[in-house]
Amino acid sequence: MKPRKVPLRKCIACQRMMPKKELIRVVRTPEANVLIDLTGKKAGRGAYLCGQVDCFRLAKKSRAFDRALKAQVEPVIYDQLEQDFIAVEDEFIANKERAEDDDE
Ligand SMILES: [Zn+2]
Repeated sequence: MKPRKVPLRKCIACQRMMPKKELIRVVRTPEANVLIDLTGKKAGRGAYLCGQVDCFRLAKKSRAFDRALKAQVEPVIYDQLEQDFIAVEDEFIANKERAEDDDE
């Protein structure tokens, strides 16, 4: 049996390559908002992070979003994202478990 091709993305904090659905996408929209995109489908420049707040904090410390999104991200945005990140973590894990059931 041939394994299914899984699209890989790199976590901007720990630099690990991971299947896309293991990662949380952060997007900079055309309106220059930076937000978490659980659908993975929002328009804009995306950056990926492991679904762990540890990785988020690492990215915050190293300002990895500035590089990944090619824009200066204000500290207040990092703080907001961190709160959002914690808030969506459970939802993200639940979605992931559901996604594992359907075989695309
Ligand atoms: Zn990571």
